[in-house]
Amino acid sequence: MTKSRIIALVVLATAGLLTTGALAFQPPGPSRRSTSFKRAHASTWSEVFASPRPIRVETLDTGIVHFPKELLLNGDHPAMDGFVDDGSPLRVFAHLVRHEHRGDVLIDTGLDDVYATEPLGHMRGIGRLVMGLLGLSFSQRPGQDVHTQLRNANAELAAIYFTHLHSDHATALPTFDQSLPLYTGAAELDDLGHRLNHGLVDDARILRELDFANAVTLDPLGRAIDLYGDGSFWAISTPGHTTGHVSYLVNGHEGPVLLTGDACHMRWGLEHGVSPSGATPETTEQAQASLDSILAFIKRYPQVRVVLGHQTL
Ligand SMILES: [Zn+2]
Repeated sequence: MTKSRIIALVVLATAGLLTTGALAFQPPGPSRRSTSFKRAHASTWSEVFASPRPIRVETLDTGIVHFPKELLLNGDHPAMDGFVDDGSPLRVFAHLVRHEHRGDVLIDTGLDDVYATEPLGHMRGIGRLVMGLLGLSFSQRPGQDVHTQLRNANAELAAIYFTHLHSDHATALPTFDQSLPLYTGAAELDDLGHRLNHGLVDDARILRELDFANAVTLDPLGRAIDLYGDGSFWAISTPGHTTGHVSYLVNGHEGPVLLTGDACHMRWGLEHGVSPSGATPETTEQAQASLDSILAFIKRYPQVRVVLGHQTL
């Protein structure tokens, strides 16, 4: 085990204890509603791709997250022995999904303009302390923030969907309208990653948890929800990196696009088949299974454009 990994484990263990203790005194948090969708008719992805819909996705690059890449990856994977950081930046994306009839939604919030001057921005409490110790910081060029880019695109958001609630995917939430519906995977609020940032999703908000119980299974990705019911926009359950992690697929006329979120952070992980680290050995195993299914999907459907959690291909 490397020195940095030991440091990470110690800090995370401390944070876990602090968080568990702190939670006893915290309010119940935002209300949650399980949200189910009609079961899709498609039985294969080929069938889905045969009927592209009037939808497209624009990936907004809202800044850079600085963090030791090694700590993001499954350190127990044998391929990690050959890990070398190539120095490529980890970008903080928000994805603007635009459907001709359903309007605009955002996947993840990206960074707002506070990150042009504040390396830890909205991060607070234990999350700020722990992540700061681990080496987290953000940087951003003026005008690169999510709101400027949404204004330039004349976007009118109808909802925000989350891949997960880690700070580098959700930190700008307090700067978005409180009436916007929010969607996450089930139990994402209970994940340690979110508990470290308790308060990010404020108590006045309602979180709609995607219910995969009625979802269709589309191999090799597994459970998938046809969010709009027309085959255009899909949520795919990819747990492990966090409890309720979700990837998304946009099936437009420009060709299908898979947005993995942090089921795969970066090119090195994809190319070497190394999953992100989860919070425990069990969830890391789950994360590896999710990555393996993504790798099998990419191999079977090479026409799909893939955007990773923090890098493009
Ligand atoms: Zn993450």
